[in-house]
Amino acid sequence: MTKTNNHLFFQTLIVPMLLMTALAGNARTAKPNIVIIFADDMGYGDMSCNGHPTIRTPNLDRMAAEGQKWTSFYVAASVCTPSRAGLMTGRLPVRTGMCSGKRRVLFPDSKGGIQSSETTLPEMLKANGYATGMVGKWHLGHLPQYLPVNNGFDSWYGIPYSNDMDANSTKIKEVNKNKHNPGNKGGHWYHPKREYWDVPLMEGEKILERSPDQEQLTKNYTGRAIEFIRANKSKPFFLYLAHSMPHVPLFRSDKFKDISTAGLYGDVIEEIDWSVGQIMQTLRDQGLAENTLVIFTSDNGPWIRFKTLGGIAGPLRGGKGSTWEGGMREPSIFWWPSSIKPGIIHEMGSTLDIIATAASLTGAKLPETQLDSYDLSGTLLKGEPSPRKEMIYYRGTEIYAIRSGSFKAHYKTKLGYKNDLEEHKTPLLFNLDMDPGENYNVAKDHPDVIARIEKLRTQHEAGLTPVENQLEKR
Ligand code: MG
Repeated sequence: MTKTNNHLFFQTLIVPMLLMTALAGNARTAKPNIVIIFADDMGYGDMSCNGHPTIRTPNLDRMAAEGQKWTSFYVAASVCTPSRAGLMTGRLPVRTGMCSGKRRVLFPDSKGGIQSSETTLPEMLKANGYATGMVGKWHLGHLPQYLPVNNGFDSWYGIPYSNDMDANSTKIKEVNKNKHNPGNKGGHWYHPKREYWDVPLMEGEKILERSPDQEQLTKNYTGRAIEFIRANKSKPFFLYLAHSMPHVPLFRSDKFKDISTAGLYGDVIEEIDWSVGQIMQTLRDQGLAENTLVIFTSDNGPWIRFKTLGGIAGPLRGGKGSTWEGGMREPSIFWWPSSIKPGIIHEMGSTLDIIATAASLTGAKLPETQLDSYDLSGTLLKGEPSPRKEMIYYRGTEIYAIRSGSFKAHYKTKLGYKNDLEEHKTPLLFNLDMDPGENYNVAKDHPDVIARIEKLRTQHEAGLTPVENQLEKR
């Protein structure tokens, strides 16, 4: 290159590049922080910005307005353990042994958990120089080798499984004898007290206490999350804040008692929304907002068998436990001021995609294994089409449905917790763009689509290798 050319090069390439950098402000650095806020059993319809008529979620609404709200964002399964395994590994739970049709989640008597051969999201980021902290519910194994601190997190404060586990049956029987409880049966759900559940509250590998005051959980988790952000503000960090709420039994702190016209469930969601506001404010106050990607979503749909103690899936059919949309399509927001292109994204994404997206955004090295993860960074940063074009809906280890583009074929249907399994010789077919509530079966008009989906299924199944089931071990 001659001197003149050099000068030209500077003018034509370097100057615009400098300008572009200046215009982008102090936005993106090579290693942005990542925060995942994960609700437990919150429904698609439980945010104001997704149309809930009475629950108020001003902080989530603001996050959505400033970032991207995704309307077709899926989890890997419609119950806790397999859904969380998918988030942490970017692999369908059928590949990690973390799903079962017999025991759908891990229980206090379980002996299985996430295998050390899996590379988790925090392990990947830690290898890339990140501080990694977790606060809240884990549910990927409670034996020491399976705990968060032995699977990529530097620190963990929270509960190892669901907040309704280690139920104290003597105390629960006692309270349900009381005729004044609604319906007698289930009084412990409607008037929950901490002593009905002996779930442990843990730090690292240590049990701090059994039967913790669950009214303080959301508040305490929030405080711990804020401490973690403050302590790690000078290095890249990954924070996973997995709320125990709104999984039943529902608890909220004093400040949130009877504040929502949506009742106890509304109070609980409004406290989670408050928590989101606290995290966002901390990021702003610490000058971290423009270098932090925050993702909000839920592990599965609303537990509709609990009626008003469960949330709503909005326009979607079904809820927790089922492969109808309401079980697996979640309220989902991505926020990252000055980096994310704000908008509402109708295309598909999944918690399975977070690991590939995180690798792409941070330069981390993806695990060398078969992933089910797409890099969504083009959609987040530039509004490009999502690379995810299909979703496979498992119940336990079985495929119940597959979505390809606008269409979803159901091979089997079953509401979460009822004895109503139906097998469909010709799959039910719904156009989810036109019919998100899955009301109008259009199978007979689209045999070509069914054939295309069938091919996807065959290809997918051919790529599976048997693994030891972790959920059935006890
Ligand atoms: Mg859940």
